[in-house]
Amino acid sequence: MFKNFYADAYFDNITDVSPSYLKEKGVSGIILDIDNTLIGHNVPVPDEKVLSHLRLFESEGLKLCVVSNNEYDRVKNFAEKIEVEYFVHKALKPRALGYNLASKEMGLQMNEIAAIGDQIFTDVWGAKRAGCFAILTKPLHSGGEGFFIALKRILEKPFLRKRGNL
Ligand SMILES: [Mg+2]
Repeated sequence: MFKNFYADAYFDNITDVSPSYLKEKGVSGIILDIDNTLIGHNVPVPDEKVLSHLRLFESEGLKLCVVSNNEYDRVKNFAEKIEVEYFVHKALKPRALGYNLASKEMGLQMNEIAAIGDQIFTDVWGAKRAGCFAILTKPLHSGGEGFFIALKRILEKPFLRKRGNL
């Protein structure tokens, strides 16, 4: 029943996910979450390490698509800043909608896509529902997120613990 809450892989940070690992999984495109996956809370752009890792993905032939529940302007501006061509705004994660749009944008099947995000009930659930390879990373910054996200983090704990991630 809860199988969609378990990621296919767990990493500390997106920069720990190597292109060769993804390619072994048959991945040709990556769906990227923004907040706490690429950037910390209230930080406008990713740090150099994350940015250069995105360029590494691309240089290895992996397509990138930012998929966010945020408004058009924010997602578009962010995608431009990090020089990623494809983006989907108002994705309504954890619904499959945004993932389907991203798959169309990148011209890839779901089983060729990995989704990387920091939230189980948004990023992992959405990716699993849509049929992507779901990768959970630790949130870049877990403070100052507000009550509801803090609550979600608590609810996520049993699913992390079961995989020995804590
Ligand atoms: Mg996030």
